[in-house]
Amino acid sequence: MAGKGRGRIRKRSDGKWMLYLPTAVCDDTHFPFTRNEQVKVTLQEDKSLRVESFTKFDDCPNCHGQGELQETDIRGVAEYKCKCGEEWRK
Ligand SMILES: [Zn+2]
Repeated sequence: MAGKGRGRIRKRSDGKWMLYLPTAVCDDTHFPFTRNEQVKVTLQEDKSLRVESFTKFDDCPNCHGQGELQETDIRGVAEYKCKCGEEWRK
């Protein structure tokens, strides 16, 4: 598990901030996010950042088990997959 690397924070000309994450961290099997996933970012008391998923799981429309988030497209549509094989978007 790598879990560490050098990233970069940039402010674009349109005023938005971008946080670039190291490939060594994102390609790690323990990296908890999917491509294009929207995340919740919170500034902590100790000046660190906390980054969390909004919705990682969703109820399966087929077996009512727990589907896991596979990917979120650029429009914010999330793709879930369940152990029963069911796949859905929302
Ligand atoms: Zn299912």
